[in-house]
Formats: sequence, structure tokens, C-alpha cells
Amino acid sequence: MLRGFDTFRKRITLLSGGLLLSLSLVLITSFYQLTSSRLATASGESLVNLSQSISNMLSANLMEREREVVLLSKRTSLYETQDLSGLQYAIDQIKSSYKDYAWIGFANVDGVVLASSNGVLKEADVSQRPWFISGQSGPFIGNVHKALLLENLLPKTKDGSPIRFVDFAAPVIGESGELKGVVATHADWAWVKEVLLSSLTDASKRKNIDIFIIDNEHRVLYPDYHFPNDIEVPKTLPKDGQFKSLLWQDDKEYLTSLVSVRSPESTDLAWQIVVRQPLSIAMSAVNEVHKLLLFFGVFATLLCMLLAYQFAGTLSRPLERLALTAKSIQQGDRKVTFQSDSKLIEVASLSCSLQEMMSSLLMREQSLMQMNVMLETKVKNRTAELEASNRSLEAIARKDPLTHIYNRLALDEALHKEYRQAQESKCPFAVIMTDADHFKRVNDSFGHTVGDLVLQKIAKLLTVQVGDKGIVARFGGEEFTVLLPNMNADEAKNIAEMIREALEKEEMSDGLYVTASFGVAMYKIDDSHYEQVLNRADAALYKAKEQGRNRVVIGA
Ligand code: GH3
Ligand code: MG
Ligand code: MG
Repeated sequence: MLRGFDTFRKRITLLSGGLLLSLSLVLITSFYQLTSSRLATASGESLVNLSQSISNMLSANLMEREREVVLLSKRTSLYETQDLSGLQYAIDQIKSSYKDYAWIGFANVDGVVLASSNGVLKEADVSQRPWFISGQSGPFIGNVHKALLLENLLPKTKDGSPIRFVDFAAPVIGESGELKGVVATHADWAWVKEVLLSSLTDASKRKNIDIFIIDNEHRVLYPDYHFPNDIEVPKTLPKDGQFKSLLWQDDKEYLTSLVSVRSPESTDLAWQIVVRQPLSIAMSAVNEVHKLLLFFGVFATLLCMLLAYQFAGTLSRPLERLALTAKSIQQGDRKVTFQSDSKLIEVASLSCSLQEMMSSLLMREQSLMQMNVMLETKVKNRTAELEASNRSLEAIARKDPLTHIYNRLALDEALHKEYRQAQESKCPFAVIMTDADHFKRVNDSFGHTVGDLVLQKIAKLLTVQVGDKGIVARFGGEEFTVLLPNMNADEAKNIAEMIREALEKEEMSDGLYVTASFGVAMYKIDDSHYEQVLNRADAALYKAKEQGRNRVVIGA
């Protein structure tokens, strides 16, 4: 799992980095939650304040417009005379005093316009207009509406949008208390824009703050570029004077505030100012702080990891040195030592212990090596002794105990070897088989001990006579065999004859002479076993016995 972090040092670094990063994240998250809720409250309150100031300005403006139309309605004398030029003059004066009055006029009780600004709509019938109907009974402020009668009579708007008005009206009461008609002003809706724009500071514009005026049915009256209903406000708006975060039509979250516009008592306008700001922008300050904190958190973590790496080095370096020393020792270096100069007490003590262990192990190793050398020498000596005794055993096994010449086993080995060589080199060899004549009689006449002595003398004589020309072996009993390598039949016969003669002349004991019969055979190239040569020699010996003994017969 921690592949790559396989050292003490790396793991301490990773651990400290992980801990610090987690701590930073927890702190930053808590800080973010705290600051974001505080900032949301502050932003929301500032939106409410903005709504409130817009509401106040709008309210004051409405009341002023209402007061103006009421004042105009109270100038009774203007309506008493048949000459309406005075009224015309007053109307023109009021219109010039406030540029957003699009139209001012007076209609008599029949709803016929008698005087109006610039004579617009003069003589027109306005009896069915709401302002005329409502204005007869008291001061009236109508909701914003599109221009109907005046649409073609007034100059067009710059952007081509339809002209809209807010109507203000008041009844004209004569001196005797009777209704004389209704005086009305049509304020261009554009004044609302001006009120709103004047309330928006540059800072508010940068913060993407939008302002809406809605009526009591939540219809958007302002902004009016899609008038009347293309923009929808959320259904659950905050309570009057409050704010909350809401999802708007465009699926974006906005911090939204609502404040009601205080309107004159004579009207039921019930306008409300809704101000919204994208939540992301309202929270942008805290987001920036959050990013900054994250950056510092990561930076601090990296710095801390670097310091931890350095610090862990002071802990791990002595251990790494110990590990290196141990490895060198493992690889056979016996000169290195564990350094015990570390400032860390535990490491210094560990080094000392390891050094002591190492010294005692080395001593043991040395004594083991010495013991090994001694053992090896002993084994060598023993092996040599064993080999020597083996050799002597082998020699004993091949010697005849009575005559001390080769026995049958040695003869067989020598014959086998000679037979092999003869096969390879085509070099002939000869075999002489000899048997003491009437030896039974020797035993019978002189005793077995003399018989043994005679056998020893025969063996010695054979050995002397043959010399280095071949080897002599006791075949068994009083029978002997001579193997003559690299020799032809004549030479072999001569040697046999020479032995025979020497034997018959040799006095074995006081007045005791023995003879022997001889059979000679040659190796033949088509022999399949050396036994065949022996058999032929034995057959020749048998013939020598048959022919009267003490003679040499050459085999077929
Ligand atoms: P021939 O001429 O036909 O060979 O007569 P022989 O008497 O020599 O032969 P035979 O086989 O009848 O007798 C052999 C004798 O050799 C009998 C045995 O006692 C004697 N002999 C064999 N081995 C030894 C030995 O180691 N020591 C003694 N003292 N006598 C031996
Ligand atoms: Mg015999
Ligand atoms: Mg015999």
C-alpha cells in the first residue's frame, strides 16, 4: 500500500504532510462555513437596505406626483371661468416643472377633455378611462399601463418600446361643492428607471445587482423590456424587509431581498421592490479568501513536509548507517565497525550492542574456522591412513599367506589386464601351469610342515627364475602359474624348461628333491576369455603328467 514510501524518513514526511493537510482542510472548511454565513447575512442585509432606499425614493416620488395633481385640482378658480386659458397656463407650468409628465389635462364631468398640455387629446372623450372613473371620487394613482389614446399623439420612445404611464388623478370640486371634472397627469414610466438608476451606485452595478418592481400579483412591472410578464420572480419570495437565497427562472441561485413600497393611502398599488444578486458573486469575496487559504494551507503543508523530511533525516540517518554497516558485514567485509557516535542515545546504545555482538560473532567464526582447519587436517590424515591400510589390505588380499607370492585373485587380475592389452596391441603372452609331482608323498613321508616348506622353496625358486620376465602366482595347493607377457611359445617353453631343470636340482630338505610337470599355452587372437589360455595350459600340464611327469608340454 505504501509502495515507494519504504523508508522511515519518507513515512514520517508523509505522515506529517497528511496530518497538516487534513488539519488545514478542517480549519479552512470551518472558516469557510463561518465566513460564508456571515457574508451571506451581510450581503443580504445590504440588498435589503438597497431595496429599502429604492422603496423610499419611489414612495416619496409617488406622493409628490399625487400632491401635485391634488394641488392642481384645488385651484378651483381656474375651473370656474369659461375661459380655460388660465388653466392651460397652469397645466403648461406644471408640465414644464417635471419633465416626465407626458400629459396633463382636465376633463369635465362628461369626460370631455377641456384643457390639456400642448392641446393633446383636447375635446377627446375619456369618460371610460380608469383615471377618470376613479378620479371623480378622490385622489387616484393607477397602475402602470400602456398608452392607449395618447400612443399616436406623443413622440415615440428612443428605443421604440411602447409608451407606458402611471396615471395620477384628482376630482375638481366647485366652489359650491359640486364636481366640476377630473384633473389628471400621466407620468411617463421612464421616471421609475431614473429613480432606480439614481439609486444604483457603480459598485452595485459591478456586483451584478438586478432590481425588479412587482405588483401584488407578482407581475414584473420593471424592468419593462419584456413587459409585462416574460420575467418571472420565484413564487416564494422573502417576507417584507427580509432576504433569502432563491433559485430563479434561469436555474441560478440568487440572494434575493424584498421591500414593499409605501404608497399613498388613496391607492392600492402594493408595489414591491425585489433586489437580487447572484449568490456566486455575493460569495465571491469568501471564495477568494477560501482559495487563498487553500493555497497557504498547501504551501504550509509542503513547507512542513520539507522540514519533517529534514528532521526525519536526523533520526533515520544513523539507522541507515547501521543498516549499511550490517549489509557490508553480510557481504563479507569484516573491517567495518558500527559507529556509536550518534547523538541519539538509543541509536548509540544499539550501535554499541551490535558492535559487541559483531565482535563475539567474529571470534566465534574465527575459532570455528580454526576447528574446521584442524578437522580437515585430521580427515586428510585419516584418509591417508585408510588409503594406506586399504592398499595393504588389497596387497594382503592378493598375496598367498604361505609362499608370499601372488594368489589366484592377483593372477586373475593380471591375466585379465594382459588379455585386454593383447587384444588391443596384438601382442602375445604365455602362461605356464606347473604342479609338483607326487607331492602327496612328500607330505606323507616328511610331514605337512616339510611339505609347506617345500612349497615355499618352490615359490621362491619360481620367482627367482622368472625374474622380471613375468609374474608368479600360487594357483592353489601345490600348483603354480607363471604369466609371461610379450612372449612367444619357444621363449615360454625355454623358461619352463629352465625352471624344471633348476627345480629338480634343488635340494629341498635333507636328501629331499622334488620335480614338477609343466604345461605351456599361448594367447590366441580368437580367445574370448583369458580362462581359455589357462585351460589350454592346464590341459598341457595334464598331458605332461600323463607322459610321465617332470617335463614340459606345449599346449595346442
Ligand atoms: P601328482 O604327481 O599326480 O600331482 O601327484 P600328487 O600327489 O602331487 O597329487 P595329489 O593331487 O594326489 O596330491 C596333492 C597333495 O598336495 C595332497 C595335499 O596334501 C598336498 N598339498 C596340497 N596343498 C598343500 C599345502 O599347502 N601344504 C602341504 N603340506 N601339502 C599340500
Ligand atoms: Mg601334484
Ligand atoms: Mg595338484
